[in-house]
Amino acid sequence: MIRKQRKQQNRKQIIRRALLLCVLLALCVVMCACGGGNGSGSSSSAESEQSVTEADIEKANEEAKKLAEEISDHEINVLLGSKADIEELVQKKAKELLGTVKIKVSGDYDVNKVGKYDLKVTLEEKKGAKASETFTLSVIDRDQMEGDYSFITDKGFLAEVKEGIMTIDGTEIVNKSYSLPPEYGDGLTTETLEAYQKMEAQASIDGIYLQPISEYRSYYDQMYIHAQNAAKYGGEKADTFSAKPGHSEHQLGEAMDLNSLDQSFADTTEGQWISNHCAEYGFILRYPQGKTEETGYMSEPWHVRYVGEDLAKKLYNGGDWITVESYFGIDSEYRKAALEKEENEAEGSSDDGNEYYDESGNYDESEEYGYE
Ligand SMILES: [Zn+2]
Repeated sequence: MIRKQRKQQNRKQIIRRALLLCVLLALCVVMCACGGGNGSGSSSSAESEQSVTEADIEKANEEAKKLAEEISDHEINVLLGSKADIEELVQKKAKELLGTVKIKVSGDYDVNKVGKYDLKVTLEEKKGAKASETFTLSVIDRDQMEGDYSFITDKGFLAEVKEGIMTIDGTEIVNKSYSLPPEYGDGLTTETLEAYQKMEAQASIDGIYLQPISEYRSYYDQMYIHAQNAAKYGGEKADTFSAKPGHSEHQLGEAMDLNSLDQSFADTTEGQWISNHCAEYGFILRYPQGKTEETGYMSEPWHVRYVGEDLAKKLYNGGDWITVESYFGIDSEYRKAALEKEENEAEGSSDDGNEYYDESGNYDESEEYGYE
Protein backbone atom coordinates (compact mmCIF):
# COMPACT_ATOMS: atom_id res chain seq x y z
CA MET A 1 0.00 0.00 0.00
CA ILE A 2 2.69 2.39 1.03
CA ARG A 3 4.83 1.12 -1.83
CA LYS A 4 2.01 1.81 -4.33
CA GLN A 5 1.58 5.34 -3.05
CA ARG A 6 5.29 5.96 -3.40
CA LYS A 7 5.27 4.64 -6.95
CA GLN A 8 2.46 7.01 -7.85
CA GLN A 9 4.31 9.94 -6.21
CA ASN A 10 7.45 9.06 -8.16
CA ARG A 11 5.54 8.94 -11.39
CA LYS A 12 3.98 12.37 -10.64
CA GLN A 13 7.40 13.78 -9.89
CA ILE A 14 8.82 12.45 -13.17
CA ILE A 15 5.95 13.97 -15.14
CA ARG A 16 6.37 17.28 -13.33
CA ARG A 17 10.07 17.35 -14.02
CA ALA A 18 9.54 16.44 -17.68
CA LEU A 19 7.03 19.25 -18.03
CA LEU A 20 9.39 21.72 -16.39
CA LEU A 21 12.14 20.64 -18.76
CA CYS A 22 9.83 21.12 -21.73
CA VAL A 23 8.90 24.62 -20.56
CA LEU A 24 12.54 25.50 -20.03
CA LEU A 25 13.47 24.17 -23.45
CA ALA A 26 10.68 26.09 -25.08
CA LEU A 27 11.79 29.24 -23.25
CA CYS A 28 15.32 28.68 -24.46
CA VAL A 29 14.19 28.30 -28.05
CA VAL A 30 12.14 31.49 -27.83
CA MET A 31 14.96 33.41 -26.16
CA CYS A 32 17.53 32.20 -28.63
CA ALA A 33 15.29 33.10 -31.53
CA CYS A 34 14.67 36.55 -30.05
CA GLY A 35 18.37 37.00 -29.24
CA GLY A 36 19.34 35.93 -32.73
CA GLY A 37 16.76 38.25 -34.15
CA ASN A 38 17.99 41.12 -32.08
CA GLY A 39 21.58 40.32 -33.00
CA SER A 40 21.00 40.29 -36.69
CA GLY A 41 18.82 43.35 -36.34
CA SER A 42 21.49 45.34 -34.58
CA SER A 43 24.22 44.17 -36.94
CA SER A 44 22.22 45.10 -39.95
CA SER A 45 21.58 48.55 -38.50
CA ALA A 46 25.33 48.89 -37.86
CA GLU A 47 25.94 47.96 -41.45
CA SER A 48 23.52 50.53 -42.68
CA GLU A 49 25.24 53.16 -40.51
CA GLN A 50 28.64 52.24 -41.97
CA SER A 51 27.61 51.16 -45.40
CA VAL A 52 29.96 52.42 -48.05
CA THR A 53 28.22 54.58 -50.59
CA GLU A 54 29.39 55.30 -54.10
CA ALA A 55 30.22 58.82 -52.95
CA ASP A 56 32.56 57.36 -50.33
CA ILE A 57 34.33 55.27 -52.94
CA GLU A 58 34.61 58.25 -55.22
CA LYS A 59 36.07 60.32 -52.40
CA ALA A 60 38.58 57.58 -51.56
CA ASN A 61 39.56 57.38 -55.21
CA GLU A 62 40.09 61.13 -55.41
CA GLU A 63 42.17 61.14 -52.27
CA ALA A 64 44.30 58.18 -53.37
CA LYS A 65 44.95 59.95 -56.66
CA LYS A 66 45.82 63.20 -54.90
CA LEU A 67 48.22 61.32 -52.64
CA ALA A 68 49.90 59.48 -55.51
CA GLU A 69 50.25 62.74 -57.44
CA GLU A 70 51.73 64.48 -54.44
CA ILE A 71 54.23 61.66 -53.98
CA SER A 72 55.31 61.56 -57.60
CA ASP A 73 55.54 65.36 -57.68
CA HIS A 74 58.11 65.18 -54.95
CA GLU A 75 59.43 61.82 -56.14
CA ILE A 76 60.23 59.33 -53.49
CA ASN A 77 63.97 58.94 -54.05
CA VAL A 78 66.04 57.05 -51.54
CA LEU A 79 69.73 56.26 -51.52
CA LEU A 80 71.17 52.81 -52.13
CA GLY A 81 70.99 50.92 -48.86
CA SER A 82 68.46 53.35 -47.41
CA LYS A 83 66.89 52.49 -44.08
CA ALA A 84 63.94 54.82 -44.61
CA ASP A 85 60.52 53.31 -43.88
CA ILE A 86 58.64 53.86 -47.14
CA GLU A 87 55.19 53.16 -45.71
CA GLU A 88 55.84 55.58 -42.87
CA LEU A 89 56.90 58.25 -45.38
CA VAL A 90 53.73 57.81 -47.41
CA GLN A 91 51.66 57.78 -44.22
CA LYS A 92 53.25 61.07 -43.17
CA LYS A 93 52.54 62.59 -46.55
CA ALA A 94 48.93 61.32 -46.41
CA LYS A 95 48.44 62.86 -42.98
CA GLU A 96 49.74 66.24 -44.14
CA LEU A 97 47.52 66.12 -47.16
CA LEU A 98 44.33 64.39 -46.06
CA GLY A 99 44.29 64.20 -42.29
CA THR A 100 44.03 60.82 -40.63
CA VAL A 101 43.54 58.07 -43.18
CA LYS A 102 44.69 54.49 -43.23
CA ILE A 103 47.15 53.62 -45.98
CA LYS A 104 49.04 50.55 -47.04
CA VAL A 105 51.96 50.39 -49.43
CA SER A 106 52.41 47.24 -51.47
CA GLY A 107 54.80 46.09 -54.16
CA ASP A 108 58.37 44.83 -54.31
CA TYR A 109 61.50 46.93 -54.24
CA ASP A 110 65.14 46.46 -53.34
CA VAL A 111 66.94 49.35 -51.65
CA ASN A 112 70.23 47.67 -52.47
CA LYS A 113 69.64 47.86 -56.20
CA VAL A 114 69.46 51.06 -58.23
CA GLY A 115 66.19 51.30 -60.09
CA LYS A 116 62.65 52.56 -60.33
CA TYR A 117 59.99 50.55 -58.57
CA ASP A 118 56.25 50.86 -59.15
CA LEU A 119 54.50 50.63 -55.83
CA LYS A 120 50.85 50.81 -54.94
CA VAL A 121 49.34 52.91 -52.20
CA THR A 122 45.94 51.75 -50.97
CA LEU A 123 43.95 54.25 -49.04
CA GLU A 124 41.15 53.20 -46.72
CA GLU A 125 38.47 55.63 -45.64
CA LYS A 126 36.94 55.51 -42.15
CA LYS A 127 33.87 53.75 -43.51
CA GLY A 128 36.01 51.21 -45.32
CA ALA A 129 35.93 52.61 -48.86
CA LYS A 130 39.23 51.67 -50.50
CA ALA A 131 41.11 53.05 -53.47
CA SER A 132 44.57 52.43 -54.90
CA GLU A 133 47.03 54.39 -57.01
CA THR A 134 50.55 53.65 -58.14
CA PHE A 135 53.61 55.77 -57.46
CA THR A 136 57.29 55.38 -58.20
CA LEU A 137 60.05 54.78 -55.72
CA SER A 138 63.53 55.43 -57.08
CA VAL A 139 66.62 53.95 -55.48
CA ILE A 140 69.52 56.15 -56.53
CA ASP A 141 73.30 55.97 -56.32
CA ARG A 142 74.49 59.44 -55.36
CA ASP A 143 77.88 58.80 -57.00
CA GLN A 144 76.15 58.33 -60.35
CA MET A 145 73.97 61.44 -60.07
CA GLU A 146 74.72 64.35 -62.37
CA GLY A 147 73.50 67.83 -61.52
CA ASP A 148 70.85 68.55 -58.91
CA TYR A 149 68.99 65.77 -57.15
CA SER A 150 67.08 65.10 -53.98
CA PHE A 151 66.30 62.15 -51.77
CA ILE A 152 64.60 61.20 -48.55
CA THR A 153 67.00 60.46 -45.70
CA ASP A 154 66.78 57.49 -43.35
CA LYS A 155 64.93 59.72 -40.88
CA GLY A 156 62.47 60.97 -43.49
CA PHE A 157 63.97 64.42 -44.16
CA LEU A 158 64.11 65.82 -47.68
CA ALA A 159 67.77 66.25 -48.65
CA GLU A 160 68.44 68.47 -51.67
CA VAL A 161 71.69 68.69 -53.57
CA LYS A 162 71.83 71.88 -55.62
CA GLU A 163 74.91 73.05 -57.48
CA GLY A 164 76.95 70.55 -55.52
CA ILE A 165 75.76 71.69 -52.08
CA MET A 166 73.63 69.46 -49.89
CA THR A 167 70.94 71.05 -47.75
CA ILE A 168 68.46 69.51 -45.34
CA ASP A 169 65.76 71.68 -43.82
CA GLY A 170 67.77 74.83 -44.53
CA THR A 171 70.99 73.46 -43.03
CA GLU A 172 73.96 72.96 -45.34
CA ILE A 173 75.61 69.63 -44.75
CA VAL A 174 79.35 69.06 -45.05
CA ASN A 175 80.91 65.81 -43.90
CA LYS A 176 82.80 62.85 -45.40
CA SER A 177 79.83 61.99 -47.61
CA TYR A 178 78.91 65.52 -48.72
CA SER A 179 81.37 68.07 -49.98
CA LEU A 180 81.47 71.63 -51.26
CA PRO A 181 82.57 72.74 -54.72
CA PRO A 182 86.18 74.03 -54.78
CA GLU A 183 85.12 77.60 -55.48
CA TYR A 184 82.63 77.76 -52.61
CA GLY A 185 82.99 80.20 -49.74
CA ASP A 186 84.72 83.49 -49.02
CA GLY A 187 84.82 83.94 -45.26
CA LEU A 188 82.59 83.58 -42.23
CA THR A 189 78.92 84.23 -42.99
CA THR A 190 77.41 87.36 -41.43
CA GLU A 191 75.03 85.28 -39.31
CA THR A 192 77.88 83.18 -37.97
CA LEU A 193 79.98 86.20 -37.15
CA GLU A 194 77.11 88.02 -35.43
CA ALA A 195 76.16 84.94 -33.42
CA TYR A 196 79.76 84.46 -32.39
CA GLN A 197 80.09 88.07 -31.27
CA LYS A 198 76.99 87.71 -29.08
CA MET A 199 78.34 84.49 -27.61
CA GLU A 200 81.74 85.99 -26.99
CA ALA A 201 80.21 89.00 -25.23
CA GLN A 202 78.18 86.81 -22.86
CA ALA A 203 81.14 84.51 -22.27
CA SER A 204 83.23 87.49 -21.26
CA ILE A 205 80.51 88.59 -18.78
CA ASP A 206 80.67 85.06 -17.36
CA GLY A 207 84.44 85.42 -17.02
CA ILE A 208 85.19 83.14 -19.98
CA TYR A 209 87.69 84.18 -22.60
CA LEU A 210 86.92 82.83 -26.08
CA GLN A 211 89.61 82.97 -28.73
CA PRO A 212 89.01 81.87 -32.35
CA ILE A 213 92.02 80.03 -33.71
CA SER A 214 90.63 78.97 -37.06
CA GLU A 215 87.59 80.33 -38.90
CA TYR A 216 87.07 80.22 -42.65
CA ARG A 217 89.38 78.01 -44.71
CA SER A 218 89.24 77.74 -48.47
CA TYR A 219 89.26 74.47 -50.41
CA TYR A 220 92.92 75.01 -51.18
CA ASP A 221 93.84 75.88 -47.60
CA GLN A 222 92.29 72.57 -46.64
CA MET A 223 94.07 70.74 -49.44
CA TYR A 224 97.38 71.96 -48.07
CA ILE A 225 96.52 71.10 -44.46
CA HIS A 226 95.27 67.63 -45.32
CA ALA A 227 98.32 66.88 -47.47
CA GLN A 228 100.58 67.92 -44.61
CA ASN A 229 98.73 65.71 -42.15
CA ALA A 230 98.67 62.78 -44.55
CA ALA A 231 102.44 63.12 -45.09
CA LYS A 232 103.06 63.22 -41.37
CA TYR A 233 100.59 60.63 -40.04
CA GLY A 234 99.59 58.61 -43.10
CA GLY A 235 96.34 59.12 -45.00
CA GLU A 236 94.14 56.84 -42.92
CA LYS A 237 95.11 58.35 -39.58
CA ALA A 238 94.92 61.87 -41.00
CA ASP A 239 91.35 61.22 -42.13
CA THR A 240 90.22 60.66 -38.54
CA PHE A 241 90.89 64.27 -37.63
CA SER A 242 91.61 66.22 -40.81
CA ALA A 243 89.07 66.72 -43.58
CA LYS A 244 89.93 66.18 -47.21
CA PRO A 245 89.58 69.32 -49.35
CA GLY A 246 85.92 70.13 -49.99
CA HIS A 247 84.86 68.18 -46.91
CA SER A 248 85.68 70.72 -44.21
CA GLU A 249 82.96 72.74 -42.52
CA HIS A 250 85.44 75.57 -42.31
CA GLN A 251 84.96 76.09 -46.04
CA LEU A 252 81.26 76.72 -45.33
CA GLY A 253 82.13 79.81 -43.32
CA GLU A 254 79.94 78.60 -40.46
CA ALA A 255 82.50 76.73 -38.38
CA MET A 256 85.10 77.94 -35.92
CA ASP A 257 87.79 76.32 -33.81
CA LEU A 258 88.03 77.99 -30.43
CA ASN A 259 90.81 78.35 -27.86
CA SER A 260 92.71 75.05 -28.06
CA LEU A 261 93.13 72.08 -30.35
CA ASP A 262 93.74 69.71 -27.52
CA GLN A 263 91.42 66.97 -26.26
CA SER A 264 91.91 68.18 -22.69
CA PHE A 265 90.08 71.39 -23.68
CA ALA A 266 86.80 69.52 -23.07
CA ASP A 267 87.49 69.54 -19.33
CA THR A 268 88.52 73.18 -19.02
CA THR A 269 86.11 75.88 -17.79
CA GLU A 270 86.10 77.36 -21.30
CA GLY A 271 85.44 73.99 -22.95
CA GLN A 272 82.58 73.30 -20.54
CA TRP A 273 81.13 76.75 -21.07
CA ILE A 274 81.13 76.26 -24.85
CA SER A 275 79.44 72.87 -24.58
CA ASN A 276 76.80 74.17 -22.18
CA HIS A 277 76.03 77.53 -23.78
CA CYS A 278 76.91 77.58 -27.48
CA ALA A 279 73.44 76.30 -28.49
CA GLU A 280 71.88 79.44 -26.99
CA TYR A 281 73.65 81.34 -29.77
CA GLY A 282 72.86 78.86 -32.54
CA PHE A 283 76.13 76.92 -32.43
CA ILE A 284 76.56 73.19 -32.03
CA LEU A 285 79.41 71.05 -30.86
CA ARG A 286 79.80 69.35 -34.21
CA TYR A 287 82.00 66.40 -33.20
CA PRO A 288 80.88 65.32 -29.74
CA GLN A 289 82.70 62.73 -27.68
CA GLY A 290 81.86 59.09 -28.40
CA LYS A 291 80.16 59.83 -31.74
CA THR A 292 83.02 59.06 -34.13
CA GLU A 293 80.98 56.33 -35.83
CA GLU A 294 78.34 58.89 -36.76
CA THR A 295 80.40 61.95 -37.61
CA GLY A 296 83.47 60.19 -39.00
CA TYR A 297 85.75 62.30 -36.77
CA MET A 298 87.25 62.06 -33.35
CA SER A 299 85.84 64.30 -30.67
CA GLU A 300 86.65 68.01 -31.17
CA PRO A 301 85.57 70.04 -28.14
CA TRP A 302 86.86 73.21 -29.84
CA HIS A 303 84.95 72.97 -33.14
CA VAL A 304 81.59 74.77 -33.22
CA ARG A 305 79.26 75.09 -36.17
CA TYR A 306 76.52 77.68 -36.60
CA VAL A 307 73.15 76.12 -37.47
CA GLY A 308 70.71 78.61 -35.89
CA GLU A 309 69.11 78.46 -32.46
CA ASP A 310 66.21 76.10 -33.23
CA LEU A 311 68.30 73.23 -34.51
CA ALA A 312 71.15 73.93 -32.09
CA LYS A 313 68.82 73.59 -29.09
CA LYS A 314 67.42 70.30 -30.42
CA LEU A 315 70.90 68.90 -30.96
CA TYR A 316 72.10 70.14 -27.56
CA ASN A 317 69.62 67.69 -26.05
CA GLY A 318 70.21 68.74 -22.46
CA GLY A 319 73.97 68.34 -22.80
CA ASP A 320 73.91 64.89 -24.42
CA TRP A 321 74.73 66.17 -27.91
CA ILE A 322 72.96 64.58 -30.87
CA THR A 323 75.01 64.61 -34.06
CA VAL A 324 73.85 66.19 -37.32
CA GLU A 325 74.20 62.74 -38.93
CA SER A 326 71.99 60.98 -36.40
CA TYR A 327 69.37 63.74 -36.31
CA PHE A 328 68.90 63.94 -40.07
CA GLY A 329 69.54 60.24 -40.78
CA ILE A 330 72.60 60.53 -43.04
CA ASP A 331 76.06 58.96 -43.10
CA SER A 332 79.55 60.42 -43.11
CA GLU A 333 81.88 58.20 -45.09
CA TYR A 334 84.38 58.81 -47.85
CA ARG A 335 83.47 56.95 -51.01
CA LYS A 336 86.14 56.25 -53.57
CA ALA A 337 83.98 57.06 -56.60
CA ALA A 338 82.87 60.38 -55.11
CA LEU A 339 86.40 61.40 -54.18
CA GLU A 340 87.70 60.63 -57.68
CA LYS A 341 84.92 62.70 -59.19
CA GLU A 342 85.70 65.60 -56.85
CA GLU A 343 89.40 65.46 -57.65
CA ASN A 344 88.68 65.67 -61.36
CA GLU A 345 86.42 68.67 -60.82
CA ALA A 346 89.02 70.39 -58.65
CA GLU A 347 91.69 69.87 -61.31
CA GLY A 348 89.37 71.54 -63.78
CA SER A 349 89.42 74.68 -61.66
CA SER A 350 93.02 74.45 -60.45
CA ASP A 351 94.01 77.80 -61.95
CA ASP A 352 91.75 79.55 -59.46
CA GLY A 353 93.11 77.19 -56.87
CA ASN A 354 96.69 78.19 -57.37
CA GLU A 355 95.66 81.77 -57.02
CA TYR A 356 93.95 81.01 -53.74
CA TYR A 357 96.88 79.00 -52.64
CA ASP A 358 99.36 81.81 -53.16
CA GLU A 359 97.10 84.32 -51.50
CA SER A 360 96.48 82.13 -48.51
CA GLY A 361 99.92 83.09 -47.25
CA ASN A 362 102.14 81.52 -44.69
CA TYR A 363 100.92 78.14 -43.63
CA ASP A 364 104.29 77.12 -42.26
CA GLU A 365 102.86 77.29 -38.73
CA SER A 366 99.65 75.59 -39.90
CA GLU A 367 100.25 72.38 -38.01
CA GLU A 368 98.03 73.59 -35.20
CA TYR A 369 95.29 74.40 -37.72
CA GLY A 370 95.40 70.88 -39.02
CA TYR A 371 92.04 69.60 -37.84
CA GLU A 372 88.55 69.44 -39.23
ZN1 LIG B 1 87.38 72.83 -36.93
